Amino acid sequence: MLFDPTPKDNREDFFNRDEEINRVRSLSSPITLVLGLRRTGKSSIIKIALNELSLPYIYLDLRKFEDRAYISFKDLLLELEREVKKLTRKFPSLVDFLKGVKGVSIAGNEVRFNWGVKNRLNFSDLLETLNDWSKDRVIIAFDEAQDLINLRGVNLLYPLAYTFDNLKKVRIIMSGSEMRLLYRFLGVENPKSPLFGRAMNEVELRPFDHEKSIEFLRRGFKEVNVEFREYERVYEELGGIPGWLTYFGYYFIQTRNLEESMDRTLERAKGLVMEEFNNFLSKRLIAKERYMVIMKRIANGCSRWSEIKTAVEIHEGREISDSEIYNYLNNLMDSSWIVKDEEKNEYCPAEKLIGRVFR
Ligand code: ADP
Ligand code: MG
Repeated sequence: MLFDPTPKDNREDFFNRDEEINRVRSLSSPITLVLGLRRTGKSSIIKIALNELSLPYIYLDLRKFEDRAYISFKDLLLELEREVKKLTRKFPSLVDFLKGVKGVSIAGNEVRFNWGVKNRLNFSDLLETLNDWSKDRVIIAFDEAQDLINLRGVNLLYPLAYTFDNLKKVRIIMSGSEMRLLYRFLGVENPKSPLFGRAMNEVELRPFDHEKSIEFLRRGFKEVNVEFREYERVYEELGGIPGWLTYFGYYFIQTRNLEESMDRTLERAKGLVMEEFNNFLSKRLIAKERYMVIMKRIANGCSRWSEIKTAVEIHEGREISDSEIYNYLNNLMDSSWIVKDEEKNEYCPAEKLIGRVFR
């Protein structure tokens, strides 16, 4: 069903992204990036591609750690352990390959990863083992990979670069809602980064445009035989983020009432967006108020740099340095809360509902 508000894992339930799914499926570079704002369908596309490829895979949902100031290597190892366990249940032959790897212990058929500092599993060794074991290819998916920037105690970029260059059977898929942050983390354009200059298979999911949004709604309602007419109004109020349109459709099927469905969608958006913004703030508590003031200002209309600065200064009743303001705006752009309209030289909410939530 198109209006099911959980991530899809089946192409039939997914509207208009065939080309993008095929590009992810192609695994045409050792690293595939799936980029797009929150709720544009990244997790769904990864799940659909993994299902269709039927290759062994490990899927790590890093959103789990979104509200943490940092992720320890232990946290990551425990997630990996859970996924590798699943894999060994499906493919018992993997256990033999894991025997003898430093930091792995095997009792019966249960795989355990050691995370103690002295004898812990090395991520590169795990990748190498998967490569040796795999007949065709094996996939490791990091969903919301920009959160790896908060990983402490280990630098994943070296094993990733090693994989890229040498482990031909390991394919990495990373998704990112915070695109600039993910690029910065990977450092493809940074000569000091181990991944410098590597060409990745990039798949970007843009929000639906006017026409596609309306077609999506039309298809969704037709599928469940529900009569609906106010397409223009929905696009005007919600914009083209597939996830918000999905919620709207889901609520309308239940209520058959336009206003109520709109209210519920906005209520839902408020909850989700604020929760995500609080996670963003939890890493920047000192400047929390300032970020709120900036978001409020921008939500009330795209704003120039000087207008934003003035708003923060008025709020605090004192002067604030230019570099601090640049820093806040850059962080908000890195995490896809706002975008810069270069032509008009203004900062705007990254999508319609972000604007509405902060107003
Ligand atoms: P992301 O991982 O980018 O945040 P999700 O894959 O979780 O996005 O999708 C958000 C919501 O929108 C889910 O309910 C999903 O089913 C729905 N959705 C996104 N894109 C589509 C699409 N093209 N067709 C149908 N539903 C979609
Ligand atoms: Mg997702």
